[in-house]
Amino acid sequence: MTIRKLPTVLINQIAAGEVVERPASIVKELIENSIDAGCSKIEIQLDHGGKDLIRVCDNGCGIASEELELAITPHATSKISEEADLSAIASLGFRGEALASIGSISHLSLTSRRKDDVAGTQIEVDGGTSAPPKPIAVSTGTTVEVRRLFFNTPARRKFLKSDGAETTRVRDVVQRLAASHHDVSFVLKSGDRTILDYPQATSKERIMSIFGGELEGELIELNGSIEGMTLWGLVGTPSIARPTSKHIRLHVNGRAIRDSSISHALKEAFRGLIEQKRWPTAAIFLEINPALVDVNVHPQKSEVRFRNRDTVWRLVNKTVASALATKEYIPVYQPSKETKFSHAGGSQAEFGAVSTPSFNVYEARQAVAGIDLPMATPLPTILGSDAVLQVHKCFLVTQDERGLLIIDQHALHERVMFEEFMQRLSSGCLESQRLLVPDAIDADAGQIEALETHESLLDRLGIEASASGPASISVYALPTLLVSRNVDGATFIRELLEKLGDSDFPSSEEEALAEIVDMMSCKAAIKAGDQLSHRELCDLLKKRQEVERSGSCPHGRPTTMRLSIEELEQRFGRR
Ligand code: ADP
Ligand code: MG
Repeated sequence: MTIRKLPTVLINQIAAGEVVERPASIVKELIENSIDAGCSKIEIQLDHGGKDLIRVCDNGCGIASEELELAITPHATSKISEEADLSAIASLGFRGEALASIGSISHLSLTSRRKDDVAGTQIEVDGGTSAPPKPIAVSTGTTVEVRRLFFNTPARRKFLKSDGAETTRVRDVVQRLAASHHDVSFVLKSGDRTILDYPQATSKERIMSIFGGELEGELIELNGSIEGMTLWGLVGTPSIARPTSKHIRLHVNGRAIRDSSISHALKEAFRGLIEQKRWPTAAIFLEINPALVDVNVHPQKSEVRFRNRDTVWRLVNKTVASALATKEYIPVYQPSKETKFSHAGGSQAEFGAVSTPSFNVYEARQAVAGIDLPMATPLPTILGSDAVLQVHKCFLVTQDERGLLIIDQHALHERVMFEEFMQRLSSGCLESQRLLVPDAIDADAGQIEALETHESLLDRLGIEASASGPASISVYALPTLLVSRNVDGATFIRELLEKLGDSDFPSSEEEALAEIVDMMSCKAAIKAGDQLSHRELCDLLKKRQEVERSGSCPHGRPTTMRLSIEELEQRFGRR
């Protein structure tokens, strides 16, 4: 085989393979160019999901007519000029390849006029071949039209999804860019339908309109800084957590990015407030010295590399956790009007439906149609905590100044234990109690290895165990708190080994610790079916007032439901 240098058109088509995957990636590049050009207004038009036409029109600085040909040439950019610029990129684009790549796989026309130019200029590119620029009467700014996408690479056209699916992706891209550029107005049209219309706004207003105004009461503002990095943003209360991480929007220096480690820092801050498999809603904006972020690591620039990843993790985690700590979340039992009328006279069914706690408030909302479960603000004080009744050895019934409280005894005690463990751990190790006779437990090689790998973790937890043979381990000491709650040591260690040996077991020590403490709390907690003395009931209620996040158990399920006094009055015809 002969080695030969590829023709420019082919080089550009290959480059296009990385940058231009679908209409959404073109829209992203074009909007980024418009933003880099300092515009205040961007209009995007799609026909057939962008397959037939993508038009992006801005009122930015424009391009000089003599530079128009250069703009569509690969590796031609006005944004960086020397090596040093690469390490502190402040613009969204910098590689100088977007227009050249797009022009190689479509019919592209680029029309532009600067403020003081007498007329504009237009250049057309057809599958990589350009015609000479010609003058044209246009207003200030730049318009790029991309027609017949992938006409010369039919295999790639086949990968496109339906018009509707492509439009949805474009919409998502526009929203991501609009989120961090609130001072630019955006209009997205598909055919003659307006899909998005964002006027210039404050950052908060912009995020609200992207998330949907109805969430206003469910968003908490974030403000934080560490070592010169700052974070601003909005995070949703636990009640609007979602099954996927799609509603997490991350931005670094105005660039929308994806970053599993930041998403994770965010999710960790919600530990115990939402179920493990759910994700918070959030918009997070980080401002970091550009020299500390490498943006040149991904072909579509949608990932970055931080010089100091741990600091970013801490900033996100701590800012979100402290914002959440300002409130306690407790679901309120509050049927809507319609539900109330249809059940007039017999409220049993409805009450039953809610008191079987659906583990997620958001799902509960959907499941028990018509019943609204908004999150209330600060956890109110229970009145005279000796007025408490245990029902079916499972629930405690008491009151606060707003109504009747129903508490799940296991869920609440689990939270109490969890906070107690965590508090003790924060000031060192858990107190440990030696067993009179060591417990011998069967274990496989993987579990023995896991035990050895996690030795320091187990030390902190007050667990002392080691291999006593090729297939067995001996347990010498357990956390005092577990022993005092009569937890069966052997069962606990067996489950612990299973966890440690699991491939999903977290590798970071803090997370691993939280996971084990989770399990210990569950084991040590009062169970459904345990009869409690009056003293124990009162103690539990007292602790409820003392620990953080007592509105939900460590897995994010509610510990408490409230039936408001108004609701009771209405049901008994007093209102
Ligand atoms: P990059 O954005 O990486 O520089 P592009 O191929 O996207 O590369 O654009 C090439 C050049 O064309 C840019 O550097 C910029 O000078 C100019 N340009 C592109 N789009 C616009 C626009 N909308 N307004 C003003 N200048 C533009
Ligand atoms: Mg660009």
